[in-house]
Amino acid sequence: MEPIVRIRRSRWLSLVSTVLTLGIAFVLLMVHQYVVGRQVLLEELHTEAAIIAENSSAALVFDDARSGKEIIAAIRHTPRIVAAALYRANGMLLAAESSGTRSFPSNLSGVDGEPAAGSVGVPDTTSFGASGGLLREDIHFNGAMIGTLVLEVDFTSLYRRLLEYAAGVVGIAVVALALAYRLTRRLRRRTARAEERLEHFALYDQVTGLPNRRLFEDELRKVVDHVRRQAVPAALLFLDVDDFKKVNDSFGHEVGDQVLAMVAERLRSTLRAGDVVGRIGGDEFAAVLYGVGDPDYTAHVVRKLIAAISVPFPTEPTPTHIGLSVGIAMLPADGEDPAALLRHADMAMYVAKGQGKNGYQFFSESIDGKVRHDLRLEADLRLALKEHDGGLWVAYQPKVCARTRRVVGVEALARWRTEDGGFVSPAEFIPVAEHTGLISELGDWVLDRVCRDLAELRATGVAVPKVAVNVSPLQLLRGDAIVGRASRTLARYGERATHFEFELTESALTEARGARVLEALRAAGFALAIDDFGTGYSSLGYLKRFQVSTLKIDQSFISGVPGDEENAAIVRAVVQMAHALNISVVAEGVETEVQAEFLAMAGCDILQGYLLGRPMAVNELATFLREPTAAVV
Ligand code: C2E
Ligand code: MG
Ligand code: MG
Repeated sequence: MEPIVRIRRSRWLSLVSTVLTLGIAFVLLMVHQYVVGRQVLLEELHTEAAIIAENSSAALVFDDARSGKEIIAAIRHTPRIVAAALYRANGMLLAAESSGTRSFPSNLSGVDGEPAAGSVGVPDTTSFGASGGLLREDIHFNGAMIGTLVLEVDFTSLYRRLLEYAAGVVGIAVVALALAYRLTRRLRRRTARAEERLEHFALYDQVTGLPNRRLFEDELRKVVDHVRRQAVPAALLFLDVDDFKKVNDSFGHEVGDQVLAMVAERLRSTLRAGDVVGRIGGDEFAAVLYGVGDPDYTAHVVRKLIAAISVPFPTEPTPTHIGLSVGIAMLPADGEDPAALLRHADMAMYVAKGQGKNGYQFFSESIDGKVRHDLRLEADLRLALKEHDGGLWVAYQPKVCARTRRVVGVEALARWRTEDGGFVSPAEFIPVAEHTGLISELGDWVLDRVCRDLAELRATGVAVPKVAVNVSPLQLLRGDAIVGRASRTLARYGERATHFEFELTESALTEARGARVLEALRAAGFALAIDDFGTGYSSLGYLKRFQVSTLKIDQSFISGVPGDEENAAIVRAVVQMAHALNISVVAEGVETEVQAEFLAMAGCDILQGYLLGRPMAVNELATFLREPTAAVV
């Protein structure tokens, strides 16, 4: 049933039931009033009859018709007694008085009960009908019955009073109802407004004014129906604001909300009026392009949306730069069920984000497979971290001095063998850990495991080298709590911070929040190394500011040397620059002796790569370090 019809019907029913209740109450009230009124009236009549009877006893004793008439004439002052008659003890009429046409029989039907001829009979006892009746009162004197008083009574006054009472009740009820109606109308209006507001709350997002997830899903369901019945195509976009958390963290939630409202406005104004846009999560939006079936055109629209969001947002004191990652599902090809479509578009968005953000991706079967695979990986990794070590361990890759080839340190690299025995590469599980936030837990676990391994090495009498531990930039985004945790772990195992180095990629330097944590790490005594140097955008200023101690030239520059002139020139330039800043240089991924020789000549301080030693388990490392040529410097 339509809600409006339901509301009308319920209003009508409540009106009928109110009227019915009031009607029943009115009838009961009137019956009660009648019964009480009649009883009071009869009691009064009996009292009046007793008084008249008392007064007329002398007239009866002396058979004085005149005075008898005078006494009963008093009934004229009592409108409800319309006639009265006094009878002698023998039943003969002594006196009669009537304000109307009533005539009493000359002989009271006494013993035989027959009325006298020519008049209306008087019954033996008092008897009342609906409109009135006759009241008989025997008069006694000195214990003997000396006569009878008969009063004709009229109940008109009772009914008049009842009528007046009814009119009063109806009047009061009408006034009360009118007041109640006015009051409830105002209340109803207020309730309606509150309901409207509640409905708005329930269906629209308060920050952006866009439909919320619930309403958007309803709209999507309608679109899916249309697509099915009218064979019209459509495109579903899942839009996720990149790095929105940093807006909230830097400017606070109020500004965050303002930016979201601006994002919503830009999305809305970039799309056509008929397209549906909704906010379906914190920094997630979704849109349906109805009637759009061409992937090229869809991509064109999505690029326009990305361009609209990439224009800086006017926040104070600095403008905000954010990106947009978009996943696209086409209807009906990618699903015929709203939930599945949203899931597919979300998966595509996840892949777009993984590919470097600020881009878009169409859903495909392979994406489905990849996302499912990652989800399984995430669940397994979560489990592995919960269990003690759970298939995780740390491999150590030696770093050697470029001149002496002696070990100067090791790099700790996370390793994972899943329960089914499969080896998962860090290149696969680290991004999943980063994406799901598990990276902090994993980072903590690695440091803890390294400390345990170092204790084991010490126990076997091996000189422990300096350890480099990789830190994801995402671990820094959670604030400097990481510094406290790392220091506590080291303290637990009696390790010194100076024995450790953290390897970070260049993006950690350029990210404002990361920078604060790096300063805290330096302050806690940890050395900082820049990993994969040359692939990011760090500047000399950053290297100086954070007192970076080591640069690790990315292996993509190393693999071609010395044949690749350009890479060789880059290596030389990096070495010169780093040395000028008192920073030592590590060459990563050294696989051949020719490379190693060139790098040593070019001034690289440290070499790392398969040539010098592959990543190995801690017991292999113990053996490796015991060899005289590998002795730790
Ligand atoms: P990375 O820090 O640049 O580590 C060096 C990677 O290069 C390692 O790969 C290492 O096995 C590989 N490698 C070393 N020498 C050679 C060589 O001569 N030739 C070639 N082709 N490769 C070489 P791996 O262990 O697969 O790690 C990949 C990346 O995963 C690491 O790159 C690092 O960014 C990340 N990672 C590994 N462990 C951790 C960890 O505990 N925490 C974090 N946040 N990231 C980690
Ligand atoms: Mg590294
Ligand atoms: Mg590296």
